[in-house]
Amino acid sequence: MSRDALVFYSAVDDSAAWRAALAAELPDLDFRADPDIGDPADIRYALAWAPPAGFFARFPNLQLVTNLGAGVDALVRRDDLVPVKFSRLSDPGMVAMMTSYVVFAVTRYARDIPVFERAKRRGEWEYVHPRALSEIRVGVLGLGELGGAAARTLAAMGFTVTGWSRTSKRIEGVASLTGREGLEQVLAGSEILVCMVPLTGDTHHLLGARELALMPRGAKFVNVARGALVDEAALIEALRAGRIAEATLDVFETEPLPAGHALWSLDNVLITPHMASITVPALAARDVAESIRRVRQGLAPLHEVDPARGY
Ligand code: NDP
Repeated sequence: MSRDALVFYSAVDDSAAWRAALAAELPDLDFRADPDIGDPADIRYALAWAPPAGFFARFPNLQLVTNLGAGVDALVRRDDLVPVKFSRLSDPGMVAMMTSYVVFAVTRYARDIPVFERAKRRGEWEYVHPRALSEIRVGVLGLGELGGAAARTLAAMGFTVTGWSRTSKRIEGVASLTGREGLEQVLAGSEILVCMVPLTGDTHHLLGARELALMPRGAKFVNVARGALVDEAALIEALRAGRIAEATLDVFETEPLPAGHALWSLDNVLITPHMASITVPALAARDVAESIRRVRQGLAPLHEVDPARGY
């Protein structure tokens, strides 16, 4: 047994696939899937998604925690992890999968598909004349790995795209806005809004009643980032009143979304169970292995998370 082991924890990811993918990159890595972790003192690296409270406190020699995903909000809030380095996954498979979801959700609204879904249920032929994609203004909040790729693809498809981020971006075909004023401009100018910012101290309830009211009447809303970015009660009210006409929600303040929750009963809401994107071990393992190599050499891992910034 080596004294340089990795512990794997996830209730949803496939540990055998990760074991194989990492073995191809780092044949000497001692991979231990929870609960078979052996001597906790051997553990130097963790590859984990949402482990239970106190999980990391058992590992006195832990140096690197790689989050099995892009959103690190749950990780940076923990109190069992203070001195280690955090890194997030960067995975072309995850980017492609997220882009496909966003393209689906935006196109569904741009092509009035929910109108036809409802007409079909009534058994009626309802014609809506299609609009040119260039006439349809899409806002993307967050232009990082995932948001940037989605915005670029939507622009390449012909949508008129405006993005919003902390710092200004240059993405072909995408207007870039920043700051509170920029946010208000994107909200007021988007008939379809896609939320792709991380959940941090600065972005909790980024979209409350006031912000949602800035959106054009009848706007559509897509949230693939985190539920708590939006004041869910305010969103429900706006959806009931028709101020926001439709929403596609993959993430919620409480997951799984509880039975009987008001969102379940809204006919204008499409709900998916936090599956917009996942990590693909064969594509993400290279970066995980490279971060471990770097930490072994005393260097910073790839895609290091700044806990103070929160992403
Ligand atoms: P990144 O960290 O790469 O990018 C985050 C973006 O948000 C950046 O453009 C950043 O600005 C911007 N941002 C952060 N804070 C603020 C702020 N206060 N004001 C304005 N802009 C801000 O994240 P990803 O693109 O990889 O992922 C986005 C989120 O998607 C994740 O955090 C996660 O929550 C969610 N996710 C959801 C999944 C699902 O299946 N539903 C799967 C994977 C991720 P700047 O560029 O200037 O730093």
